[in-house]
Amino acid sequence: MVDSVFMAELSWPQWQEKVPSGAIIFLPLGATEQHGPHLPLNVDVILPTAVAERVARAVGGLVAPTLAYGYKSMPRSGGGQSFPGTTSLDAQTFSHTIRDILRELATHGARRFVLLNGHFENAWPAVEGLDLGLREIRRDGIEGVTAMRLEYWDFVRKETLDRIFPDGFPGTELEHASLIETSLMLLLRPDLVDLSKIPQEGRASFPPYDISPAPPGYLRESGVLADARGSRAEIGQWLLDDHVELITAAVRKEFGL
Ligand code: ZN
Ligand code: MN
Repeated sequence: MVDSVFMAELSWPQWQEKVPSGAIIFLPLGATEQHGPHLPLNVDVILPTAVAERVARAVGGLVAPTLAYGYKSMPRSGGGQSFPGTTSLDAQTFSHTIRDILRELATHGARRFVLLNGHFENAWPAVEGLDLGLREIRRDGIEGVTAMRLEYWDFVRKETLDRIFPDGFPGTELEHASLIETSLMLLLRPDLVDLSKIPQEGRASFPPYDISPAPPGYLRESGVLADARGSRAEIGQWLLDDHVELITAAVRKEFGL
């Protein structure tokens, strides 16, 4: 058998050798969601999986199979649910899936987890899933479980953002399918990017509230919220380096490695 960083590529004896002795399990939280006409539906799967893979290698951990479906896409952060191909879970289903995965892994001896989120709307349902999972694990009489939960995009240096956005970084919310995600995809999966289809319309602007159902003109027709023009693999490399380095440092710190 190959010694893999991907948990599902191990045999059960290999799993048994690594996990109860302390290997941290990374669970990437993704989504199947439109990312404009120039990117595939699985951006939010590819990106957190790639970050988790690199961090897990650095700390001797394992990457559990990525959750490929996420909580519902919102118009102001992901374009909304009306785009063909966007395939989401109800919050309860998503939370319960995380709860079940954590419980199953803990039952077999896993004690250290990192939930590594790659889809904006997953954040709170992931908090809930983690809470339910830890509660269930405790009630099963299993002690000593520790978990981190994070959004990978928060781990970036200010200097890196200044370099990418010389006029000031406008914030992650509108970055959906825009410069950051497109640059990371150009680095990791250029075969899935069609630069000729990048929308030419610039940043969306929304009022500071949701409205349902979305009135005409409210949704971004392309599904892209900011601006993907100028995306480059080199920018993706700067970001990925920061994500991996800073998350690795946080994981080492919290787990005392
Ligand atoms: Zn995304
Ligand atoms: Mn997303």
